[in-house]
Parts: sequence; structure tokens; C-alpha cells
Amino acid sequence: MSGSSAIIVVDDTVDIVGALANLSEFYAHESCGQCTPCREGSLWMSKTLHRLSHGQGRKGDADYLLKIADNIPGGRTICAFGEACSWPVQSFVAKFKDEFVAKGAEDEARRARQSAGLGGEKETAEAQH
Ligand code: SF4
Repeated sequence: MSGSSAIIVVDDTVDIVGALANLSEFYAHESCGQCTPCREGSLWMSKTLHRLSHGQGRKGDADYLLKIADNIPGGRTICAFGEACSWPVQSFVAKFKDEFVAKGAEDEARRARQSAGLGGEKETAEAQH
């Protein structure tokens, strides 16, 4: 499931990390903010995914995202929006965890090369979001 009452069909050329970042940004924007798990969780997931999709990922981001998403549902919020914002993260990471981990590892390796003065490209100002 990739959200609440929606089916989104994409082909295998779509960047799955970027697609989830887009979905999570929507949820973070729409949270009304009354409940801490939804307000903070949706924002943390969105910020993490923005970072990961803009060259600032970490290998542990997939597990970090799941930890946040798993702590929002379960009667901790007033309405179902809190659960809905966690479902896309839970399902995307469950089905495509290798892509999330690989992206984070690639970003970490590039930063390590840059720190060692061995070059490395693709840093964007937008990643500082
Ligand atoms: S769960 Fe519903 S009521 Fe609570 S912050 Fe999210 S949108 Fe607002």
C-alpha cells in the first residue's frame, strides 16, 4: 500500500526513493499538527527522505525511516492520517529496502572520497534542506 485510498502505478525507471520523498512531503505538509507522532514523525520522515534523495543519505536511513513509521500508528493519534502517513514508508522500505540502503551507502562512500580529497561529485545545495 502506498497511501490512503490511492493506487499509484509506476514503471521500473522511476526513482523509488524520490517517489517516496514526494509522497512523504505531501503528508508532512498536510498534517494538522495536533498529535506529536504525526506532526513530528511525518516531518522527520520527509526530511530524511529529502536528504536521501538529494545526495546526503546514510546506510541506516532505511531502518531509521521504519523506526519512525512504526511508532506513529497504534492508537497514538487522533485521526487515521497518522497511520496513513506511515503506510507508504513501511511498504516502500519493506519492498525496496535494498534500493534505500544502496542509495545511502553510495552517498556515504562519495562523502568519504570527498573528505579524503579524492573527488566526488553531485553535492547539491538543496540537500542542506
Ligand atoms: S493524526 Fe490527524 S489529528 Fe493528529 S496531527 Fe495528524 S492529521 Fe492532525
